[in-house]
Amino acid sequence: MEKIKVLFVASEVVPFAKTGGLADVAGSLPLELSEMDVDVRVIMPKYRSVKVPGDRTVIKKSSRHEAVQDNKVSEGVTVYLVENDDYFNRKEYYGDKFGDYADNLTRFAFFSRQVLERCIKENFRPDIIHCNDWHTALIPVYLNTIYKYDPFFARTKTLFTIHNIAYQGLFSKEDFPKTGLDWALFHIHYFEFYGQVNLMKAGIIYADAVSTVSPTYAKEILTKEYGCGLEGVLQAKKDALYGILNGIDYGVWNPATDSVIAKKYSIENPDNKYINKESLQKELGLKVDFDIPMLGVISRLADQKGMDLLAKIINDILSMKVQFVLLGTGDHKYHVLLEKMAKAHQKNTSINLKYDAILAEKIYAASDVFLIPSRYEPCGLSQMIGFKYGTIPVARRTGGLKDTISEYDFRTKEGTGFTFEEYRPEAFLTAIKRAFSVHQNRGAWRELVKRVMGLDFSWKVSAWKYIELYNKIKN
Ligand code: ADP
Repeated sequence: MEKIKVLFVASEVVPFAKTGGLADVAGSLPLELSEMDVDVRVIMPKYRSVKVPGDRTVIKKSSRHEAVQDNKVSEGVTVYLVENDDYFNRKEYYGDKFGDYADNLTRFAFFSRQVLERCIKENFRPDIIHCNDWHTALIPVYLNTIYKYDPFFARTKTLFTIHNIAYQGLFSKEDFPKTGLDWALFHIHYFEFYGQVNLMKAGIIYADAVSTVSPTYAKEILTKEYGCGLEGVLQAKKDALYGILNGIDYGVWNPATDSVIAKKYSIENPDNKYINKESLQKELGLKVDFDIPMLGVISRLADQKGMDLLAKIINDILSMKVQFVLLGTGDHKYHVLLEKMAKAHQKNTSINLKYDAILAEKIYAASDVFLIPSRYEPCGLSQMIGFKYGTIPVARRTGGLKDTISEYDFRTKEGTGFTFEEYRPEAFLTAIKRAFSVHQNRGAWRELVKRVMGLDFSWKVSAWKYIELYNKIKN
């Protein structure tokens, strides 16, 4: 039987460009699919951070720090690079300190057209073009308009995956001609959204199927609370809406093989984790102490991530016997707030306002507890990464967090974390206190750490679900 052909389209792909979880997914799911006999190729813009000559490269299964950025296309998954120096040879991907780039619609309309042109040039006729987030939302539209009668794409279907519905690709009405499409499509049934152009809306409408990154988020986005105005459009598409949980790549995220942490460890020797705690305490100028609970946060500093909730209880937390280590960048208001807090609690906090992949690994390895108080969370990767590193989540029960964390039961000692339902500071603080009370019991905590390290959130199961879905769409 002929292999199913899939073109995976993303605006960021590890190891070439990453601002969030989408890049992790784009850099790992295609590798898993290729091992399952899918003819999959990836395509992304050639940003300045993509340090390879030419217009193609590969991704391979390997550690992120030995990132493959070479031109040997003999093994691994081919990555096509869309070149345009004016649009993509920039320091950042989507915007700078002044905000989003003003020409984002032009840039990603160009990218979307080039994706289809590249298929023709490479003579690669995909059964499925797997689009991800608003940057790629024009592709299903172009296939059904400009390329509608092009025999090259006669068999091609599209899957549009929503990684975060809050980022929809909204532009002013005047910008609509930059899509290259007929004004007739600036209509409430297609692009028009409260007087603006909404790329994600059109992508959802035109795609053959839509998916998102966890079963719970797939249900949540049908509601007013989580749908960000697109709940009606999604309701109409409900029969073609799927939720498939993201996985993580244990070739990258694994304390048994991680070369940047102070001491490797695994479920066989979980106590070696504490050598990493000691090492990070020294590195960050914190008191060396095995018993003190270390709380970690690695996050974009955005309202979505529950940073306002954290801000409300941070003084309560820091007045307890804890150490608090944060790594993140994002909204200016949180930078200001966290810097102030770091000054007030110098002894037991380490606030690192930057993006730093290596420090992230050290924090996953050193922390006892990981805080994820998200307002909403489509899937969330940090709880899964944390599990592998024996770090216990305290998280809000929403989206993918709900699907991946089970509440610790004090009676049976089962469960994998501490969760809270209501988006209230008190509920968050109570969940943290529950975690502390178990942490005090060394034996129970050790059991819990070992249990979460044994969980399997690899891509295996989810990659099969995507293949099933591809076949369903294709037929
Ligand atoms: P999102 O995509 O919404 O930001 P996810 O939980 O899906 O959230 O993925 C976040 C990814 O980015 C994780 O791999 C996390 O470790 C990483 N990350 C977030 N902030 C930073 C940072 N400041 N430095 C290094 N890695 C980070």
